[in-house]
Amino acid sequence: MESIRIHIPHELFAPAESSHFEGTIEVPALKAGPDLYSFARPLAWQVDVTNTGDALLVTGTVEGDAATSCARCLEDVKLSLTGEIEGYFLLGGEDAEAPEDMDEDEFEVLPEDNAVDLTALVQAALLLEVPLIPLCDDDCKGLCPTCGANLNEGACACGEPAEDPDFELARNPFAALKDLRFDE
Ligand SMILES: [Zn+2]
Ligand SMILES: [Zn+2]
Repeated sequence: MESIRIHIPHELFAPAESSHFEGTIEVPALKAGPDLYSFARPLAWQVDVTNTGDALLVTGTVEGDAATSCARCLEDVKLSLTGEIEGYFLLGGEDAEAPEDMDEDEFEVLPEDNAVDLTALVQAALLLEVPLIPLCDDDCKGLCPTCGANLNEGACACGEPAEDPDFELARNPFAALKDLRFDE
């Protein structure tokens, strides 16, 4: 993933100052658990950076069209994503006091070069938006476990798939032997 770095201009170091930044970022692929999302076009991002006195608060959005595969039938799934970017960069260098009401992973310290790296924030924003299980349709019937036919296109010749993987074995105790080979 390409990185986005915002160089904080001098004016923003006065309390209550605020600036707007925007641009695009290329995200070739995003891995979310077992799922891989791809983006044909660069994503648009925009943020407001506000000086709260103790920190720079970064809030904004990232938007783009993602494509992935249905978890059940493997057909293409297209989604429009809008993720909320949120970051908190403490001023004052390494000696800055951690805010009492925040956990370690909720803020960072503004680096000495005064550049804010938005890459991780954009990635986190997108990961919160993608579905836990991507589906082409909530009612997707998936693939037949026996012949692999897409059951959304109609029933296959296999009949009802066995719910229990041991079903075959229970029906025919010799089924386990079918894979045995007698080479000698
Ligand atoms: Zn599907
Ligand atoms: Zn089938």
